[in-house]
Amino acid sequence: MADWLAALDRRAELRARAGLTRTLRPRAADDAVVDLAGNDYLGLATHPQVTAAAARALSGYGLGATGSRLVRGSTDLHHALEDDLAGWLGVDRALVFSSGYLANLAAVRGLTQPRTLLVSDAHNHASLIDGCRISGAETVVTPHADVAAVEAALAAAPGRPAVVVTESVFSVDGDLAPLARLHAVARRHGALLLVDDAHALGVTGPAGAGGVAAAGLAGAPDVVVTATLSKALGGAGGVVAGPAEFVRHLVETGRTFIFDTALPPAVAAGVRAAVRLARAGDALRAELADRAALAVRVLGEAGLSVSAPDAAVVSVTAPGPEAATAWAAACRARGVAVGCFRPPSTPDSRSRLRLTIGAGVDRAEFARALDVIVACAREVS
Ligand code: PMP
Repeated sequence: MADWLAALDRRAELRARAGLTRTLRPRAADDAVVDLAGNDYLGLATHPQVTAAAARALSGYGLGATGSRLVRGSTDLHHALEDDLAGWLGVDRALVFSSGYLANLAAVRGLTQPRTLLVSDAHNHASLIDGCRISGAETVVTPHADVAAVEAALAAAPGRPAVVVTESVFSVDGDLAPLARLHAVARRHGALLLVDDAHALGVTGPAGAGGVAAAGLAGAPDVVVTATLSKALGGAGGVVAGPAEFVRHLVETGRTFIFDTALPPAVAAGVRAAVRLARAGDALRAELADRAALAVRVLGEAGLSVSAPDAAVVSVTAPGPEAATAWAAACRARGVAVGCFRPPSTPDSRSRLRLTIGAGVDRAEFARALDVIVACAREVS
């Protein structure tokens, strides 16, 4: 074996010994597993109106966008989707990217100048972390959801441009950022607030408009919102939403916007249908809230340490990485898919199972899945 491949093998061996092997598992279209791992919160990925809209656009526009947005990739569907998203989120203008990851890279970098200080929550997603790195700006990582630490970081850099970077519903434990307080602190120090609404869009806020809207900050001139179109909207792509001047800046300078092939038009069409359904989805959101509360109650009563039912993500603490892997595998063997988060993919030393709750899952199956999780916890402990 070539030296470099042998070196990679040794590194994989070290990961395996630490219980950190990651494996791909192909899912078939008729997969019968109860899904508590995917992010299709509202069940819209397979909604007939969504797939029909995508199918119509597929035959009209073809498979791919055939170019980047500034070349040939901008279709009327992209522009209509951007108008829909801007209206929903209550902002001047929205810009669609081909993923939430790329949207975050562009948003963080676009908000920074050479002297900018970034103040980033310790639980932020990898795409926000990479955005901070790519920007080259000095970054202070503050303890999770610690408004006083954010204030201290801003106070220590008087006169410098600064951006507070946070998620609204955190992807790790499903808890809510103190957005109103973060905004007040940012404003007091003349800083901007960047919020990743990935796990909140469609799930929280008035008409599902997300965490920023829920905090009464929609359209604020010092707030920029990002989100993915791949979770509650069931599709793919990302969005940056905020003041028109900032969006224009991204169109003209955002590298992950300019040099990336546009989102496939059929996906834009499907996501437009999903936005319509999500806006009218109060009943689905009530169902999500019920199920999150049920999950927390059932798992808590079984003696498990579980996060709060703030949105559609619930995490359950595992004793360690190996136990988390064994627990998730046991659930899987009994037909229940759960997320398995272990260091270094967790922001602290804790391993967890992450349950993402979907309103599209059959209710009885959902309740059975909770019992399976409890039974498997006993088996592996
Ligand atoms: N932000 C957060 C908080 C996420 O959980 C994700 C999805 N893993 C992303 C951004 C990236 O979005 P996408 O999958 O569309 O690239």
